[in-house]
Amino acid sequence: MTDYNDSPKGYLRLKIPKLSAHISSQEFSHIDSFCSDRLNGILRIGAVTKSYTCFTQGDLLMKEGKITNVLSREGTRVLIPGASLKGAIRTYAEFLSNSCAGSGTASCSDRLCIVCSMFGTLGKLGRVQFDDVLVNERSLKTTVVSGPSQWKGKATLPNTGKIYSHTLSETGQKTSNYEVIEPGSSFQFEVTVKGLTKKEFGLLLVAMGVSRKRFAIKLGRGKNIGFGSVTLRPENFLKISAVSETSISGEQLTNFINECANVYLQSITGDNDIVTNLDKIIDDSKKVLQLEE
Ligand SMILES: [Zn+2]
Repeated sequence: MTDYNDSPKGYLRLKIPKLSAHISSQEFSHIDSFCSDRLNGILRIGAVTKSYTCFTQGDLLMKEGKITNVLSREGTRVLIPGASLKGAIRTYAEFLSNSCAGSGTASCSDRLCIVCSMFGTLGKLGRVQFDDVLVNERSLKTTVVSGPSQWKGKATLPNTGKIYSHTLSETGQKTSNYEVIEPGSSFQFEVTVKGLTKKEFGLLLVAMGVSRKRFAIKLGRGKNIGFGSVTLRPENFLKISAVSETSISGEQLTNFINECANVYLQSITGDNDIVTNLDKIIDDSKKVLQLEE
């Protein structure tokens, strides 16, 4: 196994890239988002779980005599929280761009870094929106597994410099039960983008691991004990302009994704920290992607 000089705690150590420049003004308004060089629309993503994946939010039930953290439900539908998807993808974006992650979001007040500009910060809504998803229970396989009771479940922690690995995992006393989605389950979610430049949309795609620099991401809780390996694939982009809506899919979508991702990837070629982080993330997820073929 590749040695990144990591502890066996279930994560990869990555450098937090330097904040290079604040790119966007707080004053960016919704009207600006319909300028002809901005992208607006809804990106539909298909997700496939490659390990147990856990989105529990504190709902508890007694199952087989044990207190169990269960998935949140609405009727017979399982809730996948948009905030969890957004937090996970934001973390990748922070390691793959010159954001304020190393200096704390406090630095992003008058002018925003690329990540705060896209994902939002205190007092400023983002321009990338992840809605909650309700998945019909019958289309998901769920089961109950045991895990350590204290999980470092938070996806977005400033200044941490670590990302959870697909292969390394922490062990601990398995004292609690968790309801999880089984590997091989699929669900879809939508990302609404407002007024993104091609470069920003490119960062979003690279951070989701769906560009030519493909990787699997880690989602949800229990990422430190081997849970939450998920692969994503874009299925459709409904491009919305002031005058029309265009549905982009298939080969056309692949070309569009490559075009935007390349704008972003070209912009970071000279940044050794980001290029190294991307290589490490790709290398770490290789085994997960092999399961796909
Ligand atoms: Zn920022």
